[in-house]
Amino acid sequence: RNFVEIADVAMRYGGAEGTLALQRCTLSVREGEFVAVVGPSGCGKSTLMRLVSGLWPASEGQVWVAGREVSGPVPLVGMAFQNPTLLPWRSVLDNVMLPLEVVPAHRSRLRAERAAYAAKAEALLKLVGLEGFGQRHPHQLSGGMQQRTSLCRALIHEPPLLMLDEPFSALDVFTREDLWAVLQDVWLERKPTVILVTHDLREAVYLADRVLVMSARPGRIIAERRVEFPRPRR
Ligand code: ADP
Ligand code: ADP
Repeated sequence: RNFVEIADVAMRYGGAEGTLALQRCTLSVREGEFVAVVGPSGCGKSTLMRLVSGLWPASEGQVWVAGREVSGPVPLVGMAFQNPTLLPWRSVLDNVMLPLEVVPAHRSRLRAERAAYAAKAEALLKLVGLEGFGQRHPHQLSGGMQQRTSLCRALIHEPPLLMLDEPFSALDVFTREDLWAVLQDVWLERKPTVILVTHDLREAVYLADRVLVMSARPGRIIAERRVEFPRPRR
């Protein structure tokens, strides 16, 4: 089995009369592969991301991650979604460190190694251009800065699977391209498996090995295109 496998999945929200978001959706992603998912608004891209992350159960079909059928939040996932959902009462630094408290392997070391983890969080913030903002609170940050914070939160625990749902949508074009380079460096260095939802075809082609196209709702993967080397600036 591949690292991520979605086999003939359907997703209907809200009972028999509800919205059919996905139907006969099948997807397979190799370990260490970087795929981008594009498709029209409302076709079910975010739904697909939720199913793989284990935030929602599929109505039909199966979702497998790392050889296990998904039946709840997958701890080896790092998530950054379009809406950054930072916890408002926590500092930026403590928001970035949140997954460390959730993932058991890190949680058990966090107390003894808090300073080292905090330094790592600071380093990530610096990488995305937020050096010096660790002690601020989310409401003191712009939308784009909150998105960058949420990318750091997705990376802090070095998850083998990154699920990114339009993670750069609130960024100006310059910052966005800086963040592509940051994400590409992370990927080249650690080779996590990455699934990226984007509306930006240039972003998809710049970053991904493979671009998957979804149909209009109910969504399923209807086409794919392997991105050929050499790529721009890689
Ligand atoms: P995309 O990310 O491609 O824009 P979504 O996965 O967000 O698409 O949504 C797919 C369809 O499912 C849309 O018609 C949307 O309105 C519906 N939908 C998404 N989330 C929910 C929800 N929590 N409850 C009911 N319907 C939803
Ligand atoms: P909520 O359920 O209100 O979103 P949580 O405390 O469960 O609040 O999570 C807060 C945020 O932290 C969420 O946006 C979630 O995406 C993120 N989060 C939780 N666990 C993880 C994790 N293991 N990796 C990355 N982000 C996570």
